[in-house]
Amino acid sequence: MKQKASHKVCPTCGVDKPRGEYYKKGDTVSYRCKPCTLTDCKGRAPRYAGRYREYQNAWRRTAGKTPEREARRKLLKKLRYDVRKGVINARRREVWATDPACSARLHYRRKDVKDRTPPWVDKKALLAVYAACPKGFHVDHIVPLKGLIDGRPVSGLHVPWNLQYLTATENHKKHCRITSAQLAEAIKNRANSVEPQTGQYRAESPTN
Ligand SMILES: [Zn+2]
Repeated sequence: MKQKASHKVCPTCGVDKPRGEYYKKGDTVSYRCKPCTLTDCKGRAPRYAGRYREYQNAWRRTAGKTPEREARRKLLKKLRYDVRKGVINARRREVWATDPACSARLHYRRKDVKDRTPPWVDKKALLAVYAACPKGFHVDHIVPLKGLIDGRPVSGLHVPWNLQYLTATENHKKHCRITSAQLAEAIKNRANSVEPQTGQYRAESPTN
């Protein structure tokens, strides 16, 4: 029987090391010593990690996209947010306090709203629309104050009959852009639901 060598020279670092400095591989030992093997593995890892991530993402988009997994993903996302809420909001407040772009953006948004509020509009009726907004909904301008309709610039008015309630998701999806078909749909929905007293908000006609 061949006698096992008690030492081996590592071909990577060139140091003569005892058998215990190598990983066991059956009756023999690893090619490189332990630290050199680790360095080698870590050097290879990113190449394979990227490949596996692509495979995982493809699976998540197709076979892995079940209602149960989606619900679990949303729940975990919310839990992570709840844990980090304090940190996230503190960072937002810090940006708000230090970045002059934030207050500038608010200034111009307020100016845009003011510029599009006709002097004859009933301010109380406007405020009432905001006050009656259900929880979890946004007050949205049907014709955007400053947006695009079928890709062409449009400037809507800040008047009660141009307001509607949208969920946050719908509002963010709309993003100041609307098509004439969507506009017709929004006007129809509004006429069916909240609009019995629209007349009282309109500019008074000269006969009254
Ligand atoms: Zn080595």
